[in-house]
Amino acid sequence: MLQLPDGLRRRGAGLALALQADGFEVTLDGNPCYGACDLSHEHADVLVHVGHTPLGRSDDHHVLYLPLSFDADLAALEAALPLLRGRIVGLVTTAQHAHLLPAGAALLEAHGLEVRIGGPTPRTPLAGQVLGCSFGAARETGAPELLYLGTGVFHPLGVALATGARVIACDPYRGTAEAVDPDRLLRRRFGLIERVRGAATVGILLSTKSGQRRESLARRLAALASDRSVVVAVEEVTPDALVNLGLEAYVNTACPRIAYDDEIRFPVPVLAPSEYEIALGLRAWDDYVVDECE
Ligand code: SF4
Repeated sequence: MLQLPDGLRRRGAGLALALQADGFEVTLDGNPCYGACDLSHEHADVLVHVGHTPLGRSDDHHVLYLPLSFDADLAALEAALPLLRGRIVGLVTTAQHAHLLPAGAALLEAHGLEVRIGGPTPRTPLAGQVLGCSFGAARETGAPELLYLGTGVFHPLGVALATGARVIACDPYRGTAEAVDPDRLLRRRFGLIERVRGAATVGILLSTKSGQRRESLARRLAALASDRSVVVAVEEVTPDALVNLGLEAYVNTACPRIAYDDEIRFPVPVLAPSEYEIALGLRAWDDYVVDECE
């Protein structure tokens, strides 16, 4: 069984043909896949999972993980130098750029900075690696400022929320650097929280994907307001699925990114767990916690 994430799946047919030419019987999994939390269910002697590192210690010897490394220029780290306020910095990235961190640290140290790289952690096996559901390597640095080497806005925002540190996003493909501001995201989230306060029915979303299934969390959240909440098992959290269920609001216990990244696609509020506790008056506004998997 050959499984690739969405951005790489077009390469799957070529890999499958190459394996078949070597005498293997191959099935290419054509379903969406977003991470190592979402391993193929299909029966096979060996699952080749491309593009992600294992989540936690992997005792499952039938899964062969093939994380990918993408080389990139480190000019973005130099572009961040004028934005730094102190001389202690943490350095984090995603799996595909983790191999660049030693060279990135050397570059920054040559400019007189003290560079801290955290991890590995149980969910992120590479030094300095963060996931959209795990920012432990960033927290471990204890640094007041962090440089995130990678693309997109979600990871650096997550790092900022999880650590409280100042975060500068360094895009290795554009060679640019800019400080991220989590305040706009928080303002939008607080707007959603307010809308959920008055909801008569709330669905607590429980993923059926093995690595995203947080059942004890879902049950605990449902018990907080059992007169209006029900646990709903879902494979894919999509706007259509939520509309068809017909509940007024949802709390996401599947992949933490769903609540944040897909916010504008959903027709009704979808809160993260700590946000629901705020909506119920069980957590203070200033005790906001970004959702992470253990
Ligand atoms: S739970 Fe979400 S963020 Fe975490 S590994 Fe899976 S897809 Fe990525």
